[in-house]
Amino acid sequence: MENKSIWNKYTDEQLEELEKLNAGYIDFLSGCKTERECTEKVVSDAEAAGYRKLDDLIGSGEALKAGDKVYRVNMGKSVLMFNIGDDPLCQGMNILGAHIDSPRMDVKQNPLYEDSDLAYLDTHYYGGIKKYLYVTIPLALHGVFVKKDGSKVKIAIGEDPADPVFFISDILIHLADEQMKKTGRHIVEGEALDLCIGNRPLKIGEGEDAEGKGDSKEKAEAKDLVKKFALKLLKDKYGVEEEDFISAELEVVPAGRAREAGFDRSMILSYGQDDRVCAYTSYQAMLEVEKVKRTACCILVDKEEIGSVGATGMQSRFFEDTVAEIISLYRKGKAAEGEECCGGIDESLALRRCLANSNMLSSDVNAGFDPLYPSSFEKKNTSFLGRGPVFSKFTGSGGKYESNDANAEYIALLRNIFDKGDISYQFAELGKVDVGGGGTIAYILALYGMNVIDAGVAVLSMHSPWEATSKADVYEACRGYKVFLKDADRL
Ligand code: MN
Ligand code: MN
Repeated sequence: MENKSIWNKYTDEQLEELEKLNAGYIDFLSGCKTERECTEKVVSDAEAAGYRKLDDLIGSGEALKAGDKVYRVNMGKSVLMFNIGDDPLCQGMNILGAHIDSPRMDVKQNPLYEDSDLAYLDTHYYGGIKKYLYVTIPLALHGVFVKKDGSKVKIAIGEDPADPVFFISDILIHLADEQMKKTGRHIVEGEALDLCIGNRPLKIGEGEDAEGKGDSKEKAEAKDLVKKFALKLLKDKYGVEEEDFISAELEVVPAGRAREAGFDRSMILSYGQDDRVCAYTSYQAMLEVEKVKRTACCILVDKEEIGSVGATGMQSRFFEDTVAEIISLYRKGKAAEGEECCGGIDESLALRRCLANSNMLSSDVNAGFDPLYPSSFEKKNTSFLGRGPVFSKFTGSGGKYESNDANAEYIALLRNIFDKGDISYQFAELGKVDVGGGGTIAYILALYGMNVIDAGVAVLSMHSPWEATSKADVYEACRGYKVFLKDADRL
């Protein structure tokens, strides 16, 4: 199968659309570096496009009917969107599913310490990273403190050009003889990923209490003054204390905006494109499709990078339970119209049928071919930047182990609608056989017996602080997702 660059297939109008979508994408990447920030942005865009909060309808018992659009948030860290179609719901949905968590470093629960007049936040890395890539670059701190009374203090420090940034130091090359002998995994150890946050000590006397008795007391306890100064600043600006770190979720991420890359500005360089490139294009596709035949659904989920675990990960029952709520309100609407839904079967069976009859694109990224590392790829079955969205029949490793292996019948259906919709695409595996591997949320949705395939965007330097994508792929993926939502029929 011959694949070629898709850049020159576009009309001037399409190129304008391409730039517009990518400008929005750059803003999304720059403003949304945590799952909570992504969720908030998606909800605000969805509401602006007429999506209503499902929990309000559940509360009031309002029925759902074709044309209704609803969303539901799970613990502020994942979000589901539904656009109810004309076909009976038990005949299935067309589902796009991406993840909005990205590899990073999380601040520990007892993180603060001082050593040699430098103050630090201790971290625990999240997801698969080459740890040595995260040292000596400007880092930002995003997240939330939740105080004992339940009130929340949101922070994002290091993004505004006027903000300070943070960093993790590395040993200078002059003294790195020992370090340079280590294997990559150990060049920078996990416990060396501590974030440097200050060097200036609290001035004795500044910590006086209201009665002016603090001075002598502080002098007696004059230690860890750099840490104390940092705590004073946190207290003054955000009203948080050292103990509040216990109930905080703070993420250390590369600081700064996403950028256009290349003389031709054809690419985007940014933190977190795995998998926000697919999250962005998926939810934009949802917002752009109006009336649909089959119910359209978009899943934006947390915790994919650590195995889709936890209440906000894909393995949680949240998605299934939400579809159950939707079915209940939908059948209520049908009953009000005097129609019997799904031949009158009970609700739990209607839920099973709806899920089993669904189609899904697991919209997650693929490893784009890197000419600097050709030996990691098998060129006939590899994705290339600028050649359109990538389908992967399976991911996994060690002989397809732990992969979702999509059905040929489903792939044929997708080829058909993508070709009809003039969408360019590639078929690829994630690297050469036996050089490594990876997984996505695909296998979890496949548990319901629905058709699932991985379909996303090719990325260079995946899981590094600054990943690269091609703008043409961003645009073509969004076009492809729209075709899928509108035209993927039940198999
Ligand atoms: Mn991913
Ligand atoms: Mn990943």
